Amino acid sequence: EVERSEDIQAARIQLPVYGEEYKIMDAIHNNDCVIICGETGSGKTTQVPQFLFESGYGSKNSETAGMIGITEPRRVAAVSMSNRVCKEMGNCGDRVGYQIRFDGNVKKQTALKFMTDGVLLREMMSDFLLTNYSAIIIDEAHERSVNTDILIGMLSRILRLRRQYHQKDPAQYKVLKLVVMSATLRVSDFSENKVLFPVVPPVLKVDARQYPVSVHFNRRTVFNYMEEAFRKTCKIHRRLPKGAILVFLTGKAEINTMVKRLRKEYPFPKDAGQIYNEVPDVLVNSKNADVEVEEIELDANEEEMVDDYEDNEEEEEEKEEEEGFEETLEEDQTAEDPLYVLPLYSLLPTKEQMRVFEEPPQGSRLCVVATNVAETSLTIPGVRYVVDSGRSKERKFNEDTGAQLFEVGWISKASADQRSGRAGRTGPGHCYRIYSSALFESDFLQFSRPEILRMPVESVVLTMKSMGIDNIVNFPFPTPPSRHILDKAEKLLHYLGALDDEKRITEFGKKMSLFPVSPRFSKMLLIGNQQKCLPYVIVLVSALSVGDPFLSEFDLGIKMHELKEEDEVVEDQIQIERRRQILSKFNKSREMFGSLDKFSDSLRLLFAVCSSDHVGAQQRDEFYRQNFLSSKLMNEIRKLRKQLTYIVRINTSRDSLAASRVKEGDLKLDKPNGKQVQAIKQMVASGFIDQIAVRADVINSELKVTSNTRIINIPYLTLFPSVDHPKEDDDPFVYIHPSSILVQSGEVPPDYLVYQTLQFSSEASKNGSRKLRIKPLNDIK
Ligand code: ADP
Ligand code: MG
Repeated sequence: EVERSEDIQAARIQLPVYGEEYKIMDAIHNNDCVIICGETGSGKTTQVPQFLFESGYGSKNSETAGMIGITEPRRVAAVSMSNRVCKEMGNCGDRVGYQIRFDGNVKKQTALKFMTDGVLLREMMSDFLLTNYSAIIIDEAHERSVNTDILIGMLSRILRLRRQYHQKDPAQYKVLKLVVMSATLRVSDFSENKVLFPVVPPVLKVDARQYPVSVHFNRRTVFNYMEEAFRKTCKIHRRLPKGAILVFLTGKAEINTMVKRLRKEYPFPKDAGQIYNEVPDVLVNSKNADVEVEEIELDANEEEMVDDYEDNEEEEEEKEEEEGFEETLEEDQTAEDPLYVLPLYSLLPTKEQMRVFEEPPQGSRLCVVATNVAETSLTIPGVRYVVDSGRSKERKFNEDTGAQLFEVGWISKASADQRSGRAGRTGPGHCYRIYSSALFESDFLQFSRPEILRMPVESVVLTMKSMGIDNIVNFPFPTPPSRHILDKAEKLLHYLGALDDEKRITEFGKKMSLFPVSPRFSKMLLIGNQQKCLPYVIVLVSALSVGDPFLSEFDLGIKMHELKEEDEVVEDQIQIERRRQILSKFNKSREMFGSLDKFSDSLRLLFAVCSSDHVGAQQRDEFYRQNFLSSKLMNEIRKLRKQLTYIVRINTSRDSLAASRVKEGDLKLDKPNGKQVQAIKQMVASGFIDQIAVRADVINSELKVTSNTRIINIPYLTLFPSVDHPKEDDDPFVYIHPSSILVQSGEVPPDYLVYQTLQFSSEASKNGSRKLRIKPLNDIK
């Protein structure tokens, strides 16, 4: 019943998946779950939904009446694939629709619904059995996004339930089919996971026609990858035969800079008319859509990246002949031909995204500058040359501090291979990797780790609870975190007020789940919105996430006691005097930073970070040196602050993602007033509510703390067990870390303390067991 145009049909027949229609549909008829692996561009996304449609899925009044749902990890893919399939379906085009969180065109007659995975997860909350669907296709499962993993876990149960219901009441309930599609063969986490699928699902492999791609590594890894990508792209355009160029960068700001620069370098003739449009940003904020990793602005200044580069190095580089430039221009090409440069990233309006599929203007070469979207989600036609920066933006997780952040990092070997594969779709191609093969071998993981393992477990649990998944411990994860870790995460979320006593999500927990930071910190940020404390809380969250930037006396090699051991004076007097001076400077600086509150390490940290904002960028390193701060950590704190400020803005304002840019000046803060100091301490306590210690003599009067007791030897007890598996002869107490402001103050430390971490100290206590030390944040009243 589907009537397609001739050219569409001709194109379909070319696709490797097309020849497998019978095999695929046969497997789906005979199994509730089927896995399909096929190289990018083999036709999975566009064809498999149509196969299902043509065999009756989605047609009214049949056994398979419900819609066919197709999920994508990215908005771009959901929208553009639905557009493409709509076009392919000819007379039945109106049966295709899409839904992304803030936009959609699904109608009553829609039979094929493309959506982001987040949309389907939300639908499950109101209709757990997904009764509106007869089949679900999970696309791009190899990407292992958290949403995909959770979806597959949920669906494995829904399949069984739908089968059971169907057997009891066939008129009311139909079975559900699940198709998992992957661009790689690495699907054993799904196929061989008995908890997930007790019956092993068949894995169908689609062989793709792939032409050879020669891979050329740079001799040396160039760290200014923007510059190198630009140079390579220009050289390809000037010297090599026809064929589109695809450049992989990490995010929107980079891409826009590169596009501008390339357009300027190889312009269209003046009389060519208007080739490029002014492109507005898609207006979307995180309330309306799942923010995709690539959209997070990492640095406030990315957008203002310098536009005027000097190209004096070029001459020199040319002498040293590079690999992959053996061919020459074709007869009707010149080195000055216009380059038709198009950006491709999620925040681009759909109409602009779709332009990459169109023919470039006569006499020009197509060049697409893209994020990861072009790695497996979208196949751009005619690509012969790939320039791979080797990098992408991704979620990272600092296991020491529990902090979650977004960073540009190396991609995996598997991703690099996918990227180079993009050059071999229509003929033999070339891939230029602008990093060395040695680096590729030593620093690139074989496969990227599933996103779920790159997030704090508490965040995963909170996300799942926000989706209404209550029984986390028994959830069939494709890659499950350990039960113990899940238990602990639930407890923490309960302490933080994100879960109620039945371990169900609270209203507050729902709000917390919107922040892509670990729950402790999202709680602090949410509460921080009071008394104009939010910017301070952002400073603290960043600093606590990155780690302690204060260099210790030990780092400086000027430990107190060394100075006192004068009986062993081998050193001369001058040396000792010099050390004494350093120590005095050290103490003065620490005192100054500690002047906001004598019992609060967190406020001392806040003071140090904020002080550095009032120093000019050029003087900052000197300031860090003068004040015994690690410049590396201080710079990282700055970076994270910008990121968090941005994330908080898009979560708290109606602005679009693009409009919420953070400027350097936005970071400059005044000294908090007395009220704010108190409020900040409470906010810190609220985020570490499960990490409270009480001075032992407060609850046990037999223990006496005298003025002679050294502060680092005063025993404290933690309110919750301090170690998971205590040993019989463990010292039951914990002690203050020597670096704390409390040690410096010389006063009896407060009754109650919140602390950031517990760690075993290097020295042993009297009975030989290890001593546990807390790093205090501040006192609580
Ligand atoms: P897979 O999902 O296996 O990676 P797809 O189904 O996405 O493959 O792509 C199959 C083919 O359809 C590719 O050659 C791709 O270039 C083409 N295609 C996809 N979308 C469009 C479009 N909007 N316009 C033209 N061709 C398209
Ligand atoms: Mg696809």
